[in-house]
Amino acid sequence: MKTRTRFAPSPTGFMHIGNLRTAIFEYLVAKHDNGDFLLRIEDTDQTRKVDGAIDFIYDTLKLCNIEIDEGPNNEGNYGPYVQSERLDIYKKYALELVEKGFAYYCFCSEEELEEMREKANLRHKPFLYDGRCSRLSKEKIEENLKNGVPYVIRQKMPKVGETIVEDVIYGKIKIDNSILDDQILLKSDGYPTYNFANVIDDHLMEITHVIRGKEYLDQSAKYNLLYEAFGWEKPTYVHVPMVLGSDGNKLSKRNGDASFMDLYNEGFLPSAIVNYLVLLGWSPEENKELFTMDELIKAFNPKRIGKSSSTYDIKKLEWFNQKYIKELPDNEYLKFIKPFLTYNVSDKSEEWINRLLTIYKDHLSYGKQIDELVKIFFEDDITISKENEDFLASDENIPIVIKTYYEELEKLSDWNVEEIAKVIDIVKEKTGVKGKLLYMPIRIKISGVEHGPDLPDEIYLMGRDKVLNRLK
Ligand code: GLU
Repeated sequence: MKTRTRFAPSPTGFMHIGNLRTAIFEYLVAKHDNGDFLLRIEDTDQTRKVDGAIDFIYDTLKLCNIEIDEGPNNEGNYGPYVQSERLDIYKKYALELVEKGFAYYCFCSEEELEEMREKANLRHKPFLYDGRCSRLSKEKIEENLKNGVPYVIRQKMPKVGETIVEDVIYGKIKIDNSILDDQILLKSDGYPTYNFANVIDDHLMEITHVIRGKEYLDQSAKYNLLYEAFGWEKPTYVHVPMVLGSDGNKLSKRNGDASFMDLYNEGFLPSAIVNYLVLLGWSPEENKELFTMDELIKAFNPKRIGKSSSTYDIKKLEWFNQKYIKELPDNEYLKFIKPFLTYNVSDKSEEWINRLLTIYKDHLSYGKQIDELVKIFFEDDITISKENEDFLASDENIPIVIKTYYEELEKLSDWNVEEIAKVIDIVKEKTGVKGKLLYMPIRIKISGVEHGPDLPDEIYLMGRDKVLNRLK
């Protein structure tokens, strides 16, 4: 049987990195076996729907180098791939279950249900539908249907025994049937619940591996009862633990900083995000951290996903991103970084801009950082910290070093990196100073800070006027 997995998001126009991680896991499981990766849109909750959300998901996955084999924008043989377009299918299967005695019509009004909920509350018990409609006579059901009484269809749960869920990560889970609610499968507006639709779709779409959040693990007992009622084979379940925010809370749409698009717009490379996310909860067999997509596909085994939740750590993501930026060929790096530079460079040459951006390639954690790093080249004033001021006053040689730099640089007829590098040697010779005392004073005087790119590059790019002005 061909391995088939699916990513099944709601079309909210937003993807936090926890969702994206699930999609990546699904993709890797499929591709590891040369299988298919599907996109299915779960829009049974129409209130959450956002226009353009499907294209947004395609765009996001494409950026991550994840190709969708079948989905709403590239239909295969298992469509439609949007749940709201499959309503007649769900109805047909719900009625089949009624026919077989595994489900029943429920005509209870909101008031009746409210009463049941109150009773449960009083007894401090979770609400379980009391099953009264499962005992209606055939005639009563016919009559209600004829009179157009609104109804839902509920799953009839066994009241005794237990149901087993087998999961790749969590092993065998036993659920007591007595706690299972006669859950709604089909709502009165004709829409299915997620609890029903996921089973129907996963079966009809021939999904072999269901990979989703751990919050669905216990629920899967109900899904298993549905598979059994239909006589269908169950998929392999891989329920993955949660990704928590740094505050220890579950990631959600409100936790905006964990949105993939926000990270992308901040200048995180999708390849770095993917690499980071896969290792958030999954550990490879070999001791290695940097993986191309092909390497991930080869190495991925869902059995090595851990049981406990992981914490999203932006610093670790920055570490990955820095590595990936460093690895970019220069021309690709320049294409990536230029849009993040917001200073006006209209009076600068292409050569100057490229050189400036390139010397910071190894220093960047993410794209938007570039402005902060290069600001000393654009802003008129620099600030020197108290600590650095103290350093400048800490040795009697420092004023002499600075003065010598000034005189030698002023003399230069050719303002280029090679000549500037020679000046540094000359200053060293003339003053007899070396090391920190030779480099730090000029760096601090021209940039305000003690660290930066190669000194001759920095001096060259800063330009003669600015450098001499700041040394004065
Ligand atoms: N629509 C569900 C969600 O976004 C999908 C769960 C699943 O993959 O079955 O959580």
